[in-house]
Amino acid sequence: MGDYDYQSLLKKAEGTFSKSDKRESRLKVPNPEVIYEGKTTILRNFGEMVEVINRDERHITKYLMKELGIGVSVRNDQLVINRKVSDSLIADKVRQYMDTFVICYVCSAPDTEIRRVGRTDVMFCKACGAQNPIRGSRENRVEEVTVEEGKTYQVTVTEVGKSGEGKANLHGVSIIVPGGHKGQEVRVLIKRLRNGVAIGEIQRTK
Ligand SMILES: [Zn+2]
Repeated sequence: MGDYDYQSLLKKAEGTFSKSDKRESRLKVPNPEVIYEGKTTILRNFGEMVEVINRDERHITKYLMKELGIGVSVRNDQLVINRKVSDSLIADKVRQYMDTFVICYVCSAPDTEIRRVGRTDVMFCKACGAQNPIRGSRENRVEEVTVEEGKTYQVTVTEVGKSGEGKANLHGVSIIVPGGHKGQEVRVLIKRLRNGVAIGEIQRTK
């Protein structure tokens, strides 16, 4: 890749790192540093990886959640994955993400951005000017498999916690449903969502 790309990346990332020795590795996504806590996997350098990938953290998180098929959340710049996952699998998924959403299909520069054009996500390359629809757009559309505050979702209460609150799971998010009974199907309004845990207010009983 040319000097131009390197310079523009440097410029973009200026101020985000105080240590100058990290500049050397900016063009390369760091290898995942993984530790295990019980059944969960902590990706310790997720923040650093996101910095290099240079895409919205939430987009990357959603992609990984969908690809791994498990709940993930971000805590202090670390990614918490609710299952044991090998570092090589994470590295594969991150590479796949880069290939799909970051690296220009034409010139392989990382200096690209995604813009929505009509109903299509298009990758614009600042290095060579290429404009290409994101590969496999339909499969890679991640917006649908998410839970957002202020939206309502149909869920099934699968268990009841110690304090009597119902619990449901959707797209890897744990939803606490006050007043929900086990086995009940309810439509909930997401009042609050933090770190993969949401509070859902029952809208109507089915
Ligand atoms: Zn390009």
